[in-house]
This record gives sequence, C-alpha cells and structure tokens, in this order.
Amino acid sequence: MSTRQSAFFLKNVLTNLCLYSIMNIPGVISVEKQLKGYIFRIYPNQNQKQLINKSFGVNRFIYNYFLEKSKTEKMNAYKFIKQIPELTKQYEWLKEVDSCLLRTSIFDLDNAYQKHYKEQREKPKFKSKNRSRNSYRTNNIINTYKKITYESIKLDLEKRMITLPKLKEMKIRGYRKLRKIDGRTINATVYKEANKYYVSLCIEEQTTIPKQIPTSIVGIDLGIKTLVTASSGKIYKNPKQIKRYEKKIKGLNRWLSRATPGSKNRYKIKQKLARAYQKLKNARKYYLHSISRELTEEHDIVVTEKLKITEMVKKKSLSKSIYDASWNELLRQLEYKIKWKGKQFYQIETYYPSSQICNHCGHRNKKLKDLKIRNWICEECKNELERDLNASINIMFEGIKKYMKELEVM
Ligand SMILES: [Zn+2]
Repeated sequence: MSTRQSAFFLKNVLTNLCLYSIMNIPGVISVEKQLKGYIFRIYPNQNQKQLINKSFGVNRFIYNYFLEKSKTEKMNAYKFIKQIPELTKQYEWLKEVDSCLLRTSIFDLDNAYQKHYKEQREKPKFKSKNRSRNSYRTNNIINTYKKITYESIKLDLEKRMITLPKLKEMKIRGYRKLRKIDGRTINATVYKEANKYYVSLCIEEQTTIPKQIPTSIVGIDLGIKTLVTASSGKIYKNPKQIKRYEKKIKGLNRWLSRATPGSKNRYKIKQKLARAYQKLKNARKYYLHSISRELTEEHDIVVTEKLKITEMVKKKSLSKSIYDASWNELLRQLEYKIKWKGKQFYQIETYYPSSQICNHCGHRNKKLKDLKIRNWICEECKNELERDLNASINIMFEGIKKYMKELEVM
C-alpha cells in the first residue's frame, strides 16, 4: 500500500468510526410500500399475437396523434383524454384493442414532456413503426361485484398463466421458484423485443424494513473510463464481454448504413442488431446488478452524484448513450436496493464540483475541466490526486453532511 493509499485508508476508517459513534440511536422497523417490477416471457398464439401487434400500432397512433396536436394546443393529458370518444368514432379500429391503452399512451406523452422540461431530456419524438422495441401499457382495473373482486390483469403463478384485457390467457415463463406475490398489480407493459414477447408487471408490495444504524458509508463516482469508482478504493470497469458487444454493434451499424434501403440484407442486419442490443442489455444489466448488490451489502449509506444530463446530451455517440443508460440503471438499482435494506441513499446536486476539490485540504482547482487528466497535484497541499477516487471521496463527505443535517432535524 502506498503512503497516499494508506493515508486515504486511515481517513476512511476514521470517518466510518466517527459515523458509528454519532449513530447511537436504536434501530426501528418501518412498513413501506414499494413498487417492484417482474418481467415474464409470454407465449401468445397467432390471434393473440395479431391483437398485441395491433395494440402496438394503436399506442403509436395515439401517441403520434396527440404529439402532433400538442404543437398547436397546449399538452394537457386530461383534456386530451376527453377527446378519445370522438376519435374512436372517427377511427373505428381503435375500439378493437384494450381501451385502457389509449389513455396510457396520452399519459406517456405527458410524461415525456414533463421529463423534457424538468430533466432536460430530449423532446418527445414521433414513434416509428420500425422501432427495435414496440410496447403498450394497460392499468389493472379492480372491480367488486357481489362481494367478488375482479381484476383486469390476473397473474396465476401456480398455472403459469397471465390474463390481460382482451387477450385472455397466455402462458408465461420466468421466476420459476416464485409461487406467490403478495401485492397489488398496478399495471402491465406488453412488449416485443427481437421477435419475442414479454410482459412487465408493476406490483406494489408491502414490506417491513428494519431501519439500520449505519456503520459504513461509500461515495461513488460514475465515469466512462472506469464505470464506478468507490471511495473505499474499489473500482468496477466495464467487463470485456460488454466491450465485445459494443464493438459488434458498432460494426453492424456501419454495415447497416451501407445496405440498400428495403433490401433483404438490410433486414437481416437489423435483426442481428436487435439481437446484439438485447445481449448487450442483458449482460449490462447482470453486471450492474452485481455492482449494486455488492455496494449495498457492504455499505449502509451510499452517496452518488445526480447525473449531469445537459453535459451528457451534448455528445451523442453510441457508446455515450450506452453509458447514460448504464448510469441511469445503476442509480435506479442502488436506490431501490439500499432502501429495501433499510439503509440510506443520498444524491449530491450536480453543481457540486466533486472532481475539482482536493479531498485533503479542500482547495478547489478551477482549471481542472479536461476529462483526459486522470491525475493532478493539489497546488495547495501538494498531494497527488487520482481524479475519480478524489471525486468519490468528496461525494462521500457531502453525503456525511447530508446525513448529519437529517440527524439534527430528528
Ligand atoms: Zn490539497
């Protein structure tokens, strides 16, 4: 261990010890409602497939119709929903599918607008038929008649069947050992990816969570070169397998741009591309789950930065979009896993200059902007700093501040 590393190690131990001494409060148990997602593969028959594909089309149609409308009328989900009956008179075929999805498409559009305004995401775009993933969502409608409760979405884990509005029963596969889910189904999203059909169920579960007394805190820096740098010194790089898939996708994209539009070859490349994307997605998800599992098991407080979205949108290369998706997914996993364990999760505001501040003396190096600079020496205390590790330690300290503030309020 180098002197710098050992000094850092000592600091980390001290921080955690200090944390332990402040947290002299008894543990409590809280009951919380949590939303959890379950994804099953579904096996629709020919008729069901037809109806599902029709539903994708209707979802697209409604979304695009109101997106066009929102250019002249202000987006207002409730006002637009009132226009549905008029629209179904005009386009009879809209009645053929589950009526609930007409409303959810409008809510999805509204949501896309909200994300655009509040989180600086991209403006909602028209949905094209040739998307790699088609989907539609339906809400679970619960009715009680003569003391019997009817639900529009029924999951039977014993029979391994799911019933969806208008579609009736379909065989499902996934979660082999799961026999029962204690919770209320909120909605179901049916989607098609690489020619396979899936349903993703959103279920509200009630869980008792023991509130733990934190004894360990970790700050996390997200990056491109190293995916995750933890203030504990641990780093997580992108595994080779993921890099291989990325390379393959790049190559296929190049092929695709050269293929003649409408040709059989182009279609084949597109199919290959969809499969490669799916493989990449699965490999990435698996890897991210292992990172989030480890971090939330080893630490009681996890601190991250909020993603700097504006900065990320600037560069639109393929690998960039892949990283954005990874970071978003990792933050999502960390947050829900840590909360499920009754631990704390904090996010630091984006304007906090985590990589410019020296974690030893607090001096700020405003000149440090170039991402290529991996190491720098603090002008003030002359300590050599490794960019990502330094940032993660600063993030950890900001998290401690947040936690202390919360304790004062208690
Ligand atoms: Zn310094």
